[in-house]
Amino acid sequence: VQLINQIAAGEVVERPSSVVKELVENCFDAGATSISIDIEQGGARRIRIRDDGCGIVKDDLPLALSRHATSKIASFEDLERVASMGFRGEALPSISSVSRLTLISRIAQADCAWRVSTDGTEQDFDLQPDPHPQGTTVDVRDLFYNTPARRKFLKTEKTEFAHIESLIQKMALSRFDIAFSLSHNQKEIFQLPLAMTEAEQQQRIAGICGSVFLDNSIKIDVASSGLQLTGWVGLPTFSRSQQDMQFFYVNGRLVRDKLIAHAVRQAFQDVLFNGRHPVFVLYLTLDPGLVDVNAHPAKLEVRFREGRLVHDFLFSALHRSLAEIRP
Ligand code: ADP
Ligand code: MG
Repeated sequence: VQLINQIAAGEVVERPSSVVKELVENCFDAGATSISIDIEQGGARRIRIRDDGCGIVKDDLPLALSRHATSKIASFEDLERVASMGFRGEALPSISSVSRLTLISRIAQADCAWRVSTDGTEQDFDLQPDPHPQGTTVDVRDLFYNTPARRKFLKTEKTEFAHIESLIQKMALSRFDIAFSLSHNQKEIFQLPLAMTEAEQQQRIAGICGSVFLDNSIKIDVASSGLQLTGWVGLPTFSRSQQDMQFFYVNGRLVRDKLIAHAVRQAFQDVLFNGRHPVFVLYLTLDPGLVDVNAHPAKLEVRFREGRLVHDFLFSALHRSLAEIRP
């Protein structure tokens, strides 16, 4: 069973940031309003994620760590299926098969939390009471300690952490209704409180893109024919040498799409960025029936039913909003 889990993990746990992504998505699913992410040594030493969500009932803790039906992955066709669909109930067992994992959780009605640790080998789990508050903590230590080939593939601590930080930035800009905190080697990287008002949302963006963004950005809010574009675009005075601060969401989901990139590039064309890249955080909202966000989940591509309409709307919405800064 451990070997099967490890093989499955090889397909899906590519690096520390893939673990973080799965665990934070679980916090979203649990209805968390606050998520703390503590990383050590780029995630290779430790990834600890704590939420205040619904928690897991005691009896379900061992189940969460077990592959629901071990026969589910009995062949390589099954493995291929996992690789293409993502974990789907495989995340915790897969991660635990390539790390030392501790899961602690408490539901609202329980007198105490329960803790279970695993290195992916055991069949029976030993549950211990724990003073943890309502919610869940997943503590992943020594990732890939038992798969040396994988561990060797890890990049430097700095690079692996950069992947994690960038992931959390993207997630935090899609969920203003959740507070996030991120630390690396005990040092706070950012602390983002709930951001329900527009001013608070701007604060969060400033916390991610840099505080100068606040005084060097213009607000976008344009709607027409069922499409709405909101967000902020940084002025040329606040541009970057890299394209790392460009966030575009379609119906709340981060995308990196050719059609969108083209429309955005065209709209920015005659604004003088002197070869540097604009910073933007933009949200496009449209009828879900007009877009397939699962066209290429891994590539973050989307497919619009009326691509031309979306392209032209984006171009003119941005172009018009940028009029005031055009030379
Ligand atoms: P999936 O999310 O696809 O169901 P996972 O392996 O990621 O599979 O998680 C297994 C199960 O453990 C989830 O279905 C959920 O019931 C429970 N779980 C995992 N993480 C959390 C969490 N942070 N809060 C509450 N329940 C959780
Ligand atoms: Mg999951």
